[in-house]
Amino acid sequence: MSADDLDVARAAWVSQDEAAHAKEAEPGRVEGLIRFLWRNQHTSPFEHGQFTFVVTTPLFVAREFMRHRTFSFNEISGRYTVLPDRYYVPPAGRPLRQEGKVGAYRFEEGTAEQVAMVRETITESTARPHAAYQRMLDAGIAKEVARDVLPVNVMTSFWATVNPRNLMHFLNLRSAPDALFEIRAVAEQMEHHFAQHMPVTHRVWRESNTA
Ligand SMILES: Cc1cc2nc3c(=O)[nH]c(=O)nc-3n(C[C@H](O)[C@H](O)[C@H](O)COP(=O)(O)OP(=O)(O)OC[C@H]3O[C@@H](n4cnc5c(N)ncnc54)[C@H](O)[C@@H]3O)c2cc1C
Repeated sequence: MSADDLDVARAAWVSQDEAAHAKEAEPGRVEGLIRFLWRNQHTSPFEHGQFTFVVTTPLFVAREFMRHRTFSFNEISGRYTVLPDRYYVPPAGRPLRQEGKVGAYRFEEGTAEQVAMVRETITESTARPHAAYQRMLDAGIAKEVARDVLPVNVMTSFWATVNPRNLMHFLNLRSAPDALFEIRAVAEQMEHHFAQHMPVTHRVWRESNTA
């Protein structure tokens, strides 16, 4: 990661004279400026830092993630690598029932029977395609062909690099209550790193979301 709050302020101060820079050590100056910039949506100073995340998710989450065109990505290749025997099974507490209508769904916990059914069905139905994948590899079939049988809950890994401004845009969309449970879990961890590296920007952004 190369991102911090002071860089945001320094990028903004480039447009001013030396006296503005000299005041950067004054308590509250950086936070005051960041608040001003964000309030007025003067967002370009938030574009100079860089976050690189190493993300491991099921394929269906990676598909949503990669809709975000402002990130740079590099992903494990199913053409060059034998994909590991790792599949996502929804954890306890993952809402299972979809109520309401398109655009206004509510997701509710499943019954004990539904929880057991989901775990058993997904675990069992991912074992079969993986065995078929392995059989084809053992028979000398190319990895890029054998992988065609793998389901969307197969795990994948990728690097995702983004600047702070676009990270905040991603988090606005993917931490929202209507976002997919699994991508929200990823967004939560990304936000944790964001808050560690840019505590002031994170706080200002968070407050503007809850205002
Ligand atoms: C809850 C939720 C449900 C969704 N459901 C679906 C769905 O059912 N089907 C589906 O296909 N997608 C769906 N999406 C994906 C969504 O449509 C966006 O593709 C995705 O969220 C990326 O958003 P973005 O374009 O703002 O982000 P980015 O690609 O990161 O772009 C950031 C910003 O850059 C600007 N920008 C980038 N490229 C362009 C461009 N070509 N033209 C103009 N401006 C541009 C825009 O201002 C954009 O907001 C869903 C997303 C969410 C969060």
